[in-house]
Amino acid sequence: MRSSANWRKALLLVALLHACSAVDEHSANFVLFGTIVSIHAFDTTEPAFSDAMSTLETRFSALGVDWYPWADGELKRINAAIAAARPIDVSPPLASLIKAAARFEALSGDRFNAGLGHVSALWGFHALPAGVTSVPDADAISAILATRPGASDLGWQHLTMRPGAASTLLDLGGIAKGALLLEARRLLLQHGIDNAIVNLGGDLLVIGQVHGRHARIGIQSPHDDYPIAGLQIASGEAVFTSGNYERYVEIDGTRYPHILDPRTGQPVRHTASVTVVHTDPVLADAAATALLVGGGADFDALVDAFELEFALLIDASGDTRLTPGMRQRLHWTATGNSQ
Ligand code: AMP
Ligand code: MG
Repeated sequence: MRSSANWRKALLLVALLHACSAVDEHSANFVLFGTIVSIHAFDTTEPAFSDAMSTLETRFSALGVDWYPWADGELKRINAAIAAARPIDVSPPLASLIKAAARFEALSGDRFNAGLGHVSALWGFHALPAGVTSVPDADAISAILATRPGASDLGWQHLTMRPGAASTLLDLGGIAKGALLLEARRLLLQHGIDNAIVNLGGDLLVIGQVHGRHARIGIQSPHDDYPIAGLQIASGEAVFTSGNYERYVEIDGTRYPHILDPRTGQPVRHTASVTVVHTDPVLADAAATALLVGGGADFDALVDAFELEFALLIDASGDTRLTPGMRQRLHWTATGNSQ
C-alpha cells in the first residue's frame, strides 16, 4: 500500500523531469523501508554522482534503522529506556530530532504528537501491509492516551534524556523525512553537487536549479493518479504532502489511515491531504502532518502557529483551503478543482 502510493507521487516528478534530460543530468532510485528515494542531479559528472549516491545510500540505510521505532536501532533502545523509566544518552542527530518533535507538539497544540507508537501499533500501522483484522479496543487506546504520551515531557540535560510518560513510544515518522532531506543536502553539497532534487516518496527538497531554472513539480490528487496542480520550487525549498490515502489498514472494508488524532487515538479521515512548501524541510514535514490532523477547522490557527506562507489543504469531500501565498503560486490543471 505504502509503496504504490509513493511510486505514484514520485512518478509525477520524474515525468516532469523527463522532458529536460541532458548529458550532465544523472538520476538514481533506491527503496528504503518501502519508500522510494529518488535523486536527480544536474551539472555534475558521473563519478561524482556515483560517489555521492553510495555515501547517501549507506547513510540513509543506517538512519532508517536508527530512526525507526520498530527496527533494531537507536530509537528502539530509547523507547526501551522510556518504558523502563531509565535515563539514556542519545546521539546528537536523534536528540535534536526528538527535541524538534517536542517543539512541534507545543506549536500545534498537540495535533502533532511523536509519542503515539503504542496507539499506532494497536492499529497495526507498524505491520503493514498485514495490519490488523479488527478495530482496536477503545479502552486500550484510552488507557494509553490518559497518561499523555509525547516527546514534550522528556527531560534533557544536554544529550542525556530523562524519560517521561511510560506510555510514550517515540515514533518520528511525522518528521523523519524532513530530517533525512537535510542530511541528503549536506552530503550532496559535500560531494560538490549543488543542483539536485531529492525526492523521498513524493516529499522533496530542491537544491540549486534545474538547468538554470526553477524546478517544476506536480501535486498529486488525493483521489487519483493525476496532478491537480503544478508549482515552481525555488532553490532551498521543500515540499511535503501528508495524505490519508498514503498508508492505511483496511478492516471490514473500511480504510483507516495511518495519521492519528492524538486527542482520540483515531485515524484522521476528515482531511484527504495537506501540502506545505517551506525552506525548512523538518518544519514543512511536521506542519503537513499537524494540518492534516487539525483539518479545515484548525487551518488558519495552525498556519499562524507554524508561520506558513504556502499551505494547501484538501478535505475528504474535495473542498480546499489555501494560504494567499499558495493561491498565487499554484497552477491548477484540468483535474484540479479550485482554479
Ligand atoms: P507524515 O506522512 O509526515 O504525515 O507522517 C505520518 C507518520 O507520522 C505516521 O506514519 C506515523 O509514523 C506518524 N504519525 C501519525 N500520527 C501522527 C501525529 N498526529 N503526529 C505526529 N506523527 C504522527
Ligand atoms: Mg510529516
